[in-house]
Amino acid sequence: MDHIQCSSCNRQVIPRLWHYSPILGRFRYLKTQHLCPFCGVEMYTTGGSINFVGKIVLVLLFLLTFSTIRRALNELGPVGNILASVIGLTIIAIIYLTAAKAVWRFIKSFISGVRNLISK
Ligand SMILES: [Zn+2]
Repeated sequence: MDHIQCSSCNRQVIPRLWHYSPILGRFRYLKTQHLCPFCGVEMYTTGGSINFVGKIVLVLLFLLTFSTIRRALNELGPVGNILASVIGLTIIAIIYLTAAKAVWRFIKSFISGVRNLISK
């Protein structure tokens, strides 16, 4: 196993691993602290990214926020409608641009694939 130099005691050590549940642990993977077995200093941590349940909650939160903003804009009347249109158009433009980029990447890879076939 690879040894890592501890930045505190400068020894070459195999880190001792400590798994723990991070903040909002239900929605994230376990975090792992890599501790120096000699001086106990935390060298680095890994893990803790958002898990499947967390992603679902994030999407729900996003939708909830979006509908709340929409309702607030509705209460503003005509100004709110204009704002809602601008926000909506911006989001649609972003979606279209992302889709266009994906299509462009696909076309490029298709062309280079055809070129490879011809040159063989
Ligand atoms: Zn150490």
